Amino acid sequence: MGKIKQLDDLLSNKIAAGEVVERPASIVKELVENAIDANSTRIDVEVEEGGLSRIIVIDNGDGIESEDLLTAFQRHATSKIQDENDLFHIRTLGFRGEALPSIASVSKVDLKTSTGKDAGDQVSIHFGKVVEQKKSDSRKGTTIEVTHLFHNTPARLKHLKTVHTELGNITDVINRQAMAHPEVAFHLKHNGKTVLKTPGNGDLLQVIAAIYGMSVAKKMISVENETLDYEIKGFAVKPEITRASRQYVSLFINGRYIKNYKIYKAIERAYHTLLPIGRHPIVILSIELDPILVDVNVHPGKLEARFSKEQELSEAIETGIKNALKQTELIPHASRKSHVSKPKTEQSSFSFDTSREDIERRLASFQQKDDLVTPSFTPPRVEHDQPDFTSTEWKHHQESVSKEPEEGYVFDEGEPLIKKEPVKDTVQQQEPVSSRVPTMYPVGQVHGTYIIAQNDQGMYIIDQHAAQERIKYEYFREKVGMYEHEVQELLVPLTFEFTHTEATILKEHEEELSTIGIFLEPFGGNTFIVRSHPQWFPSGEEKETIQEIIDQVLADKKTDIKKLREDAAIMMSCKGSIKANRHLRNDEMITLIDTLRKSEDPFTCPHGRPIIIQFTTYEMEKMFKRVM
Ligand code: ADP
Ligand code: MG
Repeated sequence: MGKIKQLDDLLSNKIAAGEVVERPASIVKELVENAIDANSTRIDVEVEEGGLSRIIVIDNGDGIESEDLLTAFQRHATSKIQDENDLFHIRTLGFRGEALPSIASVSKVDLKTSTGKDAGDQVSIHFGKVVEQKKSDSRKGTTIEVTHLFHNTPARLKHLKTVHTELGNITDVINRQAMAHPEVAFHLKHNGKTVLKTPGNGDLLQVIAAIYGMSVAKKMISVENETLDYEIKGFAVKPEITRASRQYVSLFINGRYIKNYKIYKAIERAYHTLLPIGRHPIVILSIELDPILVDVNVHPGKLEARFSKEQELSEAIETGIKNALKQTELIPHASRKSHVSKPKTEQSSFSFDTSREDIERRLASFQQKDDLVTPSFTPPRVEHDQPDFTSTEWKHHQESVSKEPEEGYVFDEGEPLIKKEPVKDTVQQQEPVSSRVPTMYPVGQVHGTYIIAQNDQGMYIIDQHAAQERIKYEYFREKVGMYEHEVQELLVPLTFEFTHTEATILKEHEEELSTIGIFLEPFGGNTFIVRSHPQWFPSGEEKETIQEIIDQVLADKKTDIKKLREDAAIMMSCKGSIKANRHLRNDEMITLIDTLRKSEDPFTCPHGRPIIIQFTTYEMEKMFKRVM
């Protein structure tokens, strides 16, 4: 007698349930996906005790026809694909036909459904067995209730975590579904209390506000990019708001939440140097593409996907976010208190940042409608004196900028020096510099560390060290990337000694080092000499600079040139940047601010720390209770 036999349906459903319905959150996910696939515009999810004692999902979708009702609970029974060809054109979230039979095999399921035409149907299935079936009312849509979860699989039940953890997982699931489908109104309740409610009007920003709060939503920047194959849309948060994990990056492929390491990396590259090390952004991106380009059938929970043009997609995402960040004013405000409506004068601030107004408007309408978010009010405007920037004093400031010597340097005492662009003529000087930092005028310096500046939009505090680091970083980054370096010959060559292993590693990396102008010559044994260095190396610190670059190569054995250059530029920018406790003259402060405004990313130092913080005029007025 042979030993191999076909398992019965109930047993194979239980086995499948091990993968598909691991915990309450995975059941919620499957049920909500079914509701979305059924074209629902409103989905209510009610859970009790983290879903352990009860899960109810109510939708207003297409419903299931009477004759399909029991088939829906059969293994591999689906209305979403017909043949193999369909597998490559999946637009629905489900297609494996596994969820309902799996869930029904490990719990008590009560399902009521109607297409809205005639009377509906109702069925009760207890641990895989139909116990009751009858007619019900004709409300269009489906209600499914799951109780006694895992009561027939005690090991699984034991494996579940606390109510708190399970609820956290369920909330994550609903949050993502809500962000993937802003056109659907979601309402999640736990033990009778509302956890999340979204308006379902198609506005993703309002969904973000409902999930992450108004203050995060207000710091969102709209991201859009399109290639022949991909359409990318969504939001990325300003780098002043960061999170400790990647959990806050949500990617949706044709409405399906997926995880993808390469795309995460692309997003991190887009934020490069804007975020502190170890911190992550909040990013929500919807990617639309021809389903033929993606295989979603690689994971039972359908959480992973394979793309045939992954590189193209990653690049498009990186560019999309980079461009969005570039076009935005990224100065954090000192006060984090949110206020939706600002006085007129402030609404016009930063005219180069027009998308802000749109964001404020969309959030304002959301806030007025929704009772979940504390409503705000428009404070009355109090008349008071505005600083007068047409005064002769300020004119004098502006003139002093154009009176700088033709070939000026920033910080004459500091080393190394950054050449200031020569000023051609006054007409050019008056032309606005295309900068994301508004024009501002220094007032003074605090603790020899911070520059205080002002303009009609408020007061700014600038970290002078961070500012100079940024300027230098961009300078060195350009220099270090040059194809040919102008070199400075050394009268006495520099000598470097290494261990045998180090010498071997360095020999393998000679070429990388030469691209940044360091030519190591073997000098017997494990000794090398260097006869020249690029002219732009931080002066007086040539040997240390070379040593540090070599150390980077040694520490990071498989250095690629791009990373080596990058690290070298960051390291050199740190060297000799004006430290704290350094008094700056007024013209030095003006030049520093001016140079900073011209830099590509004027908001954070290369290590991701902020450079400028703003107190808006309005915020100051509020602090001093000049306005209520
Ligand atoms: P899949 O979603 O992979 O097709 P499921 O087991 O989740 O498999 O569901 C089986 C079938 O039951 C679906 O294909 C769909 O036709 C029907 N169905 C399930 N849930 C709903 C719902 N909420 N509204 C309408 N039809 C549903
Ligand atoms: Mg399904």
